[in-house]
Amino acid sequence: MKTDASAQFFDRAMKVLVEGCSSASRGPLNYSPHPAYFRKGKGARMWDVDGNEFIDWQLSFGCLPLGHAHPRIVEVIRNEVENGTHFATALEIEVEVAEMMVGMLDHVDKVRFANTGTEACMTAVRMARGLTGKRKVLKFEGHYHGWYDGLLVSSNPQPVTTLGHPNDPVRIPDSSGLTPGSWEDTLVAVWNDIDALERVLKRSAHEIACVMMEAVMSNMGVIPPKPGYLKHVQELCHRYDVLFYLDETVTGFRLAPGGAAELYGLQPDIVTFGKALGQGFPVAAIAGPSHVMDSIEYGKVLHYGSQNAPRLGLYAVKVMLEEMTRDDNAGFRKLTDIGNQMTDRLNAAARDAGQNMVVQNVGSMFHPVFTDLDEIDGYRAFCATADLAKYSAFAAGMREDGIFFTGNKILHNLSCTTHTQADVDRTIEVATKVLHEMPK
Ligand code: PMP
Repeated sequence: MKTDASAQFFDRAMKVLVEGCSSASRGPLNYSPHPAYFRKGKGARMWDVDGNEFIDWQLSFGCLPLGHAHPRIVEVIRNEVENGTHFATALEIEVEVAEMMVGMLDHVDKVRFANTGTEACMTAVRMARGLTGKRKVLKFEGHYHGWYDGLLVSSNPQPVTTLGHPNDPVRIPDSSGLTPGSWEDTLVAVWNDIDALERVLKRSAHEIACVMMEAVMSNMGVIPPKPGYLKHVQELCHRYDVLFYLDETVTGFRLAPGGAAELYGLQPDIVTFGKALGQGFPVAAIAGPSHVMDSIEYGKVLHYGSQNAPRLGLYAVKVMLEEMTRDDNAGFRKLTDIGNQMTDRLNAAARDAGQNMVVQNVGSMFHPVFTDLDEIDGYRAFCATADLAKYSAFAAGMREDGIFFTGNKILHNLSCTTHTQADVDRTIEVATKVLHEMPK
């Protein structure tokens, strides 16, 4: 694989960009000795500045359910950019898209558009606090909800010896620059353990505004909820009079037309969307029933933003929703089918090569973890056993042969509607070779 042009960009970049790029996960920490610099994407493929072609399974961390440069997205953006980029006024397109979303989401009466998942989560938490008058929020170990100070706690993998007792996890800030006050009101519990949640609610429900979680743990590989767990969480939230907030930044408009809420039969009080929603444009949303959403009416709970409801992005959302739901939701079925195939066939390749690689998925989201366990059922199992260096070596080997698996060791890979059967077959062929060549 040629890397000269990327190496030159990296030299230039290191002089003017921190880590040579704009997020730690894109830089040398995950792509050694330097990242490839990209120029172009089309369908499920992308090309770097050396002209290397990759089948893309990272897909912009889940932002591209239709893949790169979908012809209808290109067309609508070309047309609409002629009419102006952004007005920061009320828009006809935001009404149209909100109507489409409400039509797809049983649990949602109203929507508010933002730009990123982080902002949406920040707003959701503020809404929950404003509405209930209670100050604490409960999040879970290993769940990530963006980089807002109040939620930047216990999201990263840590040595298990530092995590404390599962009944009372140590809250570990994910960054410096946070004051203890910023996470003072953020409680942390162990996920996928209903008794752990009930213990916290028994003790502290009177001061907890919301229980917030990813429906599928997807920032620590892919860890599915145990059967019945999410429904049980919802019941407990009702019983203890605490809002149930499902962060669907990753799962929304990916796992099913109604997201994880539909897949698991839930009626959350608050949901947030991002990533897949904008099909590569920064569009996020906070959504829920009217009595919850109206808390932000007229700035009672403040939600502002010059860039909110980005006009061009909303045209992309409209096309994405139309394409994914066409032919009785064929787009969603395809994402799931490819995700299931990748999972089964990668697991078979690992067994065949005698590698301790376990691939878990929920539909379209899948991730290989090198572990001696048969299954990773929670954050602590991931922290205790995941060999992250081995994943890095595997992903680097795949990229050498034109298969782009994310370099981010704790995230996940995904399918898009433009992946073909030939893409899956080629990926498995390369994975089989790489797994056989890797040391056991
Ligand atoms: N919530 C979840 C569950 C996420 O996975 C992420 C991003 N990985 C976010 C929120 C933050 O979204 P963004 O990166 O768009 O700010």
